[in-house]
Amino acid sequence: PSAPDAEALQHADVAWLLPRPEAESDKYRRGVVGIVAGSARYPGAAVLAVAGALHGGAGAVRYVGPAAEAVIARFPETLVSAGPPSKAGRVQAWVVGPGLGDGAEARQALEDVLASDVPVLIDADGLRLLSPEALRARSAGTVLTPHAGEAAVLLGQTRERVESARLVSVRALAERYGATALLKGSTTAVASGHHPVRVNPTGTPWLATAGSGDVLSGLTGALLAAGLTGYDAASTGAYLHGLAARSLGQAPLTASAVAEALRGVWGDVVG
Ligand code: AMP
Ligand code: MG
Repeated sequence: PSAPDAEALQHADVAWLLPRPEAESDKYRRGVVGIVAGSARYPGAAVLAVAGALHGGAGAVRYVGPAAEAVIARFPETLVSAGPPSKAGRVQAWVVGPGLGDGAEARQALEDVLASDVPVLIDADGLRLLSPEALRARSAGTVLTPHAGEAAVLLGQTRERVESARLVSVRALAERYGATALLKGSTTAVASGHHPVRVNPTGTPWLATAGSGDVLSGLTGALLAAGLTGYDAASTGAYLHGLAARSLGQAPLTASAVAEALRGVWGDVVG
């Protein structure tokens, strides 16, 4: 296949797309993000996804999963639900997968979320449990956020092949799964339907650190919950994530610090 049309998201586009609260806003109108992530082994992934969503402007975050204690200890503003995601109460977008594991409970939680009629972002372990058929019956949008290794599994190809043809690969993912695809890495690219592939201009290799992808999932989930399309939420999420990392300078960063830096970036973009 030939290389698809590509464009870089512009600063002005992001400024226009970024949701701001209106005078009459309440937390539900700003968007409630549901997060299904974390496990006894990887509680931190849940905390970082929640951090991304809260610092990404969610009106509220609902957490469903086994890492509730760790999440609440760091973010007491999180609403925690026991039981399956479908019983969690009002949610405008789901994020499923970071640190979730691939056991029977994880599989069931993913199925439950996919049966909902709101947008779903699937990352990390959620991607390992996914088949193209599982998405076909969905009534709302789906966003997949693999890195090259995860994308290779989703496409049944080698990682090298994905790395060497990132634009073609991201478009192939979007087509095969009928979803918005965000392929992470040195140049993050977003594909959705017949839109041009959006290449993110704000990346920095300092982002190549544990947990930074989990922050991106939560952040993009907040943008979906605010009502952005999968295509706009994914490309805007990658843009802000990169700017937040860059704002920390040429020095090692942590995923937690990237989430906290979103605040300053927001002011710069909107202001
Ligand atoms: P994950 O692989 O899920 O931990 O996500 C890693 C995050 O860091 C994604 O947002 C990637 O786009 C970003 N990232 C990783 N490596 C690089 C790189 N070399 N240059 C720019 N961004 C990167
Ligand atoms: Mg990851």
